[in-house]
Parts: sequence; C-alpha cells; structure tokens
Amino acid sequence: MKNMGFMRSRNFVIIAVVLSLALGSCGKSQQTMTSLPDADTPTISASNIPQATVTVTPAPTMENPEYVIKLALDYGQKQASVDETIKYQNQSGQELSNLVLAVEPNLWADCFTLKEIRVNGQVSTAFVLDGQKLELTQVLAPLEIITISISFTLAIPQINVNNQAAIIRTQVFGYTSRQLNLVDWYPFVVPYVPGQGWLLNDPATYGEHLVYDSASFDVTVRFAGETAPVVAASGAETPISDGKRFLLDKGRSFALSFSPDYLVKSQDVDGVTVISYYYAGNALGGQAALDATVRALQIFSQDFGTYPHSTLSIVQEETDFSMEYDGLYFLERRLYFGYSGADTDFLPTIAAHETAHQWWFSLVGTDQANEPWLDEGLSTYSERLFNESFSPEKGEWWYLARITPDENKNCPVDISIYGFYDYNCYYTESVYKRGAMFLQAVRDLIGDQAFLAFLKDFATQFAHRRASTQDFFTFLHQSSDADLTNIIQEFFREAH
Ligand SMILES: [Zn+2]
Repeated sequence: MKNMGFMRSRNFVIIAVVLSLALGSCGKSQQTMTSLPDADTPTISASNIPQATVTVTPAPTMENPEYVIKLALDYGQKQASVDETIKYQNQSGQELSNLVLAVEPNLWADCFTLKEIRVNGQVSTAFVLDGQKLELTQVLAPLEIITISISFTLAIPQINVNNQAAIIRTQVFGYTSRQLNLVDWYPFVVPYVPGQGWLLNDPATYGEHLVYDSASFDVTVRFAGETAPVVAASGAETPISDGKRFLLDKGRSFALSFSPDYLVKSQDVDGVTVISYYYAGNALGGQAALDATVRALQIFSQDFGTYPHSTLSIVQEETDFSMEYDGLYFLERRLYFGYSGADTDFLPTIAAHETAHQWWFSLVGTDQANEPWLDEGLSTYSERLFNESFSPEKGEWWYLARITPDENKNCPVDISIYGFYDYNCYYTESVYKRGAMFLQAVRDLIGDQAFLAFLKDFATQFAHRRASTQDFFTFLHQSSDADLTNIIQEFFREAH
C-alpha cells in the first residue's frame, strides 16, 4: 500500500510526508520463494517392465488455491453472512500437521463470528481462532488436497475517518456514511515456507503485514437488505440471474467496495476494462484517475509485462490513504477534492503508483512486512517511469517534488515495518524515497536499456510467485556485470 500526505502552497506542491501504514513483523528478509511443483500433471512411465507399459499418475497438481465465496450483504445494516469454500493443496514437499489462515476481520472487536468449519465435508472442532490467526489441526500429506468450508458473519466496523487512530493505522475495511469496503475480509491460507513455517506477520502501526499466495477467486454477492448499491470488485463480472458474480484468476486477494452513490466511467485499453468509481462533485478527478490509470497500464505493460487481468477498478476512498489490492485500488479523497488539472497535480502520479502495485505486489508477491521496500520502492520508482513517459522534464519534476532527497540522511532501505524507528527516519523516507533513489542509482550505473530489461525480466521470472530481497539481488547481479558494491553499501545495511 501506500499513502501520502501533502500540502499545497500556491503553485508548488510540497510533499510533507509520504506515509504508509498497515500491520507487520520484524527486521529483515526471512522468506524466499516457495518452490512449487510443475503446473502440469506429470506422468511417470515404467517402460522397462517387459510385459506391458505401466503408467503411474501421481495426485493432480493444482495450479493454485481456489476460493469460492458467497456473500450476502445487508448494506443498510452493515451486516454480512458469508459461506466460503477453500480448496488447498499441500505443495510444501513435506507432511504438514496444521494449516494457518489469516482472519483479518477478527482484529476488530465484535466483527467476526465463526459459525462453522467443515473439513472435507465433516464438521471440525480441531481449530483455534486467536486474533488474526486461525489454526486448524490437520495432517496433510504432500500433494494432498483439502477442502475447507467456513461459514461466518461480519458486523462491519465504521471507518474512523477523523479519528487519530485512522491516521496512524490505515483502515480501509469498514463503512462510512456513503461507502462500505470489504478488504482482507475472508479467512485465507497464508503461504507456507519450507524451513520457516506459515508466514503470518503481526500487524504494525505503519505498512502492510500480510503475505499472500496467488489464488483463484469466484465471488458471488447478493444483497439481503433493501439497498442494492453499486459494486466495485477485484474481478471481472460474469452474469448470473440473481446477484453479481465476479471471477479473478491468479490474484493475491479479492476486494469489494459498495456505495449507492458511485458514479462510474470506464475505458477499454488493450483488452483491459479500466473502471473509475467516484462521487458527484468529483467528476474531474474521477476522469483524471481513469485517464492516468489507462496510461499507466499501457506504460507498465510495456515496461514490466502484460497486465494479467481483464479489469482494473479505481475507487475514490473516503479517507486520506490510498491502498492497492489485486485488480482494484483505492485512491485517497483529497486527491479528488484538490484536483485542478494542473501539471503539478499529484493525482495522476499516485494513480500510477497504485497501478504499478499490480506488478509490484500483485504479480510479484513479496513479504510486505519484512521487506516493504521491494513493492513500495519499485512502485514509487514506477511513478518516475510514468511521468517521464510524457517528457523527460516531467521525470525531473517528479524527483524533486516527490522524493525531495535529504542529503544529510542516509536512511537504510532494508528496514521492516517494525524496525524503522531505530534509524531516525520516517518509514516512507526509507522505504519509498530511498528505495526509489536506490533504483535510480542502479539505473544511472547500468544504463536505461539494461535497467528496464532487468525490471521486465524480474517481473516475468517471479510472476504469480514471491520474490525476496535476495532474489532481487541475485537476479540483478545476473543481469549486469556492473559493480554494485558502492551503491548497495550506500543504501542497504546488508551486503548483497
Ligand atoms: Zn505503495
């Protein structure tokens, strides 16, 4: 995620603070990529048996976990009833004795009520729900597939737009007087990292803490009350006779946003439908968000590889934070209210940042808590690629206005969402600004062509998987013969 605070003074935009928030765990790179079996079902032929050819077919390999979620929402009462079915395969290469799911709604008091859990159709009581962690005691053999059905209700919390707590901790999940957002609203199986275990980081004051496997989603929405609001969703809508059904393939998460007041504009670009949801009185910003996202999709598809989904939705947020989800992002309200169309307006730049997260978060998964620079540094730097696509001068403007480097500070890039206090640096100063400055330094050293080729190859190599800082540097060293020692020493605490 990202978010930023800024102030305007006459024609100048001064970036005061670029904050990001969420929840997370400790200091440095822990997990790396999970090694997955081949997607194709292998067939082993024992052809050395003389009598006949014997074919052994191992358990089929699932491409990714599958989530089928049926949501009944009473928009007026802010109540939801949910039936969720998860199909999950143990691809860890070892026997597992438990499963761990993240249950983010349980971080809010009196929000999440568990009704029933079934494992392979049988009611299960072998579980513990504690805070955001749901642990099922269940032995799973390698490649065994389990079906988990969870029924629960949500008493959706109010978003405290003007509460100080909302300033230090992003709250996208919840409702305001004219919006209801369901983000990280269903239990999901967190990644399993061989040698380390289940990857569920603690929440923190700043930054996001969750890590996701890529998964497929089939989400049906029906309205239980009288109000049938407009729905913005991570996935593409497919017609059904009652309600709305959305499909998202190979996504990190599935977000929904509802409002009876949304106005909608959309545009098709290269086979992708970009949809802008905004409020009356903000048509200029709603159109600008659509235009910038279309432009960013074109530029980043060219620079990083094709956008993997058929839709991308932009939702005008009711708070002062923007936040990315797969196939959908929220854009903070002040960008709309303050939008004038001037060249120095920040709405297009932040829209480009959130769009870039579709590659640096969604396509390439990372540990947002322990290595937040990977998705935030890359998304912040992508703002420059977006701006300089208009003209080189726009790239220079971006650098001065958004990065505003402080030569007296050498904030380390490789900090976690828990550990940045130790360096007298803002979280965003380290992760966003210095992360982007580091990438610019790499570009200056290895040249435009090699730098852009590296970014594209990195995105392609780790598409729908997860990448660590070590993966990043291993790949970078393979991509260039340049000596990066000094640059890494300047920006990172650890050598790579
Ligand atoms: Zn961001």
